[in-house]
Amino acid sequence: MDLYEYQGKQYFHRFGIPTSPGGVADTVEEAVVQADEAGYPVVVKAQVKVGGRGKAGGIKLANDPGEVRQHAGAILGLDIKGHVVKRLWIEHASDIAREYYASFTLDRPNKLHLGMLSKEGGVDIEEVAATNPDAIAKLHIDPVEGLSQEAAHRWVAEADLDEAARDEAATVLVRLYHCFVEGDCDLAEINPLILTTDGRVHALDAKVTLDENAAYRHPEWEELAGTDTDDEREKMAKERGLNYIGLSGSVGIIANGAGLAMSTLDVVTQVGGSAANFLDIGGGANAAIMASAMEVINADPAVRSIFVNIFGGITKVDEVAKGIIEALERVEIRSPIVLRLDGTNAVEGRALLAPHLSDRLMAESTMLGGARRAVALAGEATQ
Ligand code: GDP
Ligand code: MN
Repeated sequence: MDLYEYQGKQYFHRFGIPTSPGGVADTVEEAVVQADEAGYPVVVKAQVKVGGRGKAGGIKLANDPGEVRQHAGAILGLDIKGHVVKRLWIEHASDIAREYYASFTLDRPNKLHLGMLSKEGGVDIEEVAATNPDAIAKLHIDPVEGLSQEAAHRWVAEADLDEAARDEAATVLVRLYHCFVEGDCDLAEINPLILTTDGRVHALDAKVTLDENAAYRHPEWEELAGTDTDDEREKMAKERGLNYIGLSGSVGIIANGAGLAMSTLDVVTQVGGSAANFLDIGGGANAAIMASAMEVINADPAVRSIFVNIFGGITKVDEVAKGIIEALERVEIRSPIVLRLDGTNAVEGRALLAPHLSDRLMAESTMLGGARRAVALAGEATQ
């Protein structure tokens, strides 16, 4: 789960990582209130989960309430790479002497944590990695040993951070590492980490990705959930506990198991169609889950046909059939449905559905045949 900058900064705060005082605003007037509170000058910052906001006009300095109104008005509703700004973060502006980069991620193949530190911050780190890889000081950390203050000191020297920044930067890095480990992050990134003109080091931006596998030990994460996507379909699916990813095509897909769902996407593409989503109803799916899945797909206005591809294993096809019947009774499904049902209890499942078959609900015996039919029904040219 990706956090917004303001959530990332709140997360940093818990681990003692210094940030600028500020607050969120969803309207121009709220922005002015937050700016008065933070103290002028302030920075008005678009809250969207995408980088490069600065270049896109989503970050502006303001010296007085008039400028806050002007910038907040312009940034709210702004489309940044497909993300519409609905919330702002207003913070007291910093006087920047230097911009650095710092992050921790997991180096999976090496089974180590990986820290990256650079004095060339503020810009895309991918760009630095491509044009000036030597400017990134990498540090592999054994999770058992952790990052000591001494190791952090050697690291800031190796990265050649300005002398004035080194002590505080080392402290921030140790805290960021704690945030990464104890905070169960997949990524904890500060870009830029700044040295101010009066010699302080603090985080001017925050990019945090939480490892959702650790959610069970973080009840406090619940308040962050639901804000992590702008996609209404994904929100709806999440509420129903479904493994769903929204895509931009017209064929809605329901399959059991991530592998089968992926291959279904491939086959739909192969025959000339485009998938509207990825939806894996899971290994032990029952009627209720199937009905929820149908509802989520039905709520997507781009969907023009639905391809249900089930290979029963632990999932019993007769259960899935019951879910389809339940969904048909519960909601009016807008799109024609193509079924390919095989595996455990397929015979029973098909028998349950037989009386319901029509030109809105049809059965195909193979995955390829089902995909072709669904793509044709969606009005896409089949191959
Ligand atoms: P990003 O473009 O989405 O990564 O947004 P950032 O939060 O990293 O901000 C982009 C750039 O805006 C920074 O690299 C700074 O140069 C500038 N910026 C952000 N906050 C301040 C501030 O408080 N003072 C000044 N002078 N510049 C800022
Ligand atoms: Mn940034």
